[in-house]
Amino acid sequence: MNQEDRENELLALESILDSATFKFNDSTGRLDIFPQLSISPIKIHVDLNCGTGNDDFPNGELRGVNFLPPYELNFSLPENYPASESPKFNLSCMWLSTSQLNKLCRKLDEIWNRNTGNVILYDWYQFLQEESLDFLGITDILHLRNEFPSATNDSRINGASVKSQSRNEFRRAIQTTLNYAEILPMLLKYDREKCRENFITAIFACNICFEDKKGMDCLQFKDCGHVYCKKCISSYFEIHITEGAISSLICPEPECKTTALPNQVKDAVKQHLYDRYEK
Ligand SMILES: [Zn+2]
Ligand SMILES: [Zn+2]
Repeated sequence: MNQEDRENELLALESILDSATFKFNDSTGRLDIFPQLSISPIKIHVDLNCGTGNDDFPNGELRGVNFLPPYELNFSLPENYPASESPKFNLSCMWLSTSQLNKLCRKLDEIWNRNTGNVILYDWYQFLQEESLDFLGITDILHLRNEFPSATNDSRINGASVKSQSRNEFRRAIQTTLNYAEILPMLLKYDREKCRENFITAIFACNICFEDKKGMDCLQFKDCGHVYCKKCISSYFEIHITEGAISSLICPEPECKTTALPNQVKDAVKQHLYDRYEK
């Protein structure tokens, strides 16, 4: 019965999730789980007592992101799963602290204990995707906790809070960032790449030619977010530069005052026109 349950579970996961998200091979597997934000963008807050090591990100400043990198759940299925044994697993993430990851691991245990005898991977997946941030009290702000060994070693060794099960839990909960100062820059980079990825594949209706175009063929003004196809915006820029009306390289949307960035103009117009614009 175990064997059949397991096979059905794995087939179901394979049919629901794509191969980049779910991998399984010879009783071990991996799930990449993207936690859903309840508010987007979510603000990121950095510990005031720790320099981020980068002048672009002053201490404590709140920065918003729309995407967070996934948790990685690595698991193996023991022989008696699901009849009596739960999957062995570890949970890793770059932006949660070890104690937050431990809390999630204990919650996965609890879900298993309530459902012992039944396949559990999808329940775990669903919890981590849909409920984990709320469960950790992360709604509109993600406070990046500085709980790296260099900062907390002493309290871990001497503190009364170290329980007998801790050793086991430390191995299940894996914080993958080596240095606290790296987390915010990595989150911002991830968010930029994801936004870019989403933009180039999304479809936009150009407000000049009214045609639907893929993002990769469009330009988006930075502050207002208005989008036009490259063909239209190129002619628009070129006409204005040719007429010498350089100051009006602003978003064509009526009433909008957002100016185009120099590199957007450079990408859109012929070199000799860009040279004129630059002067
Ligand atoms: Zn157009
Ligand atoms: Zn605009």
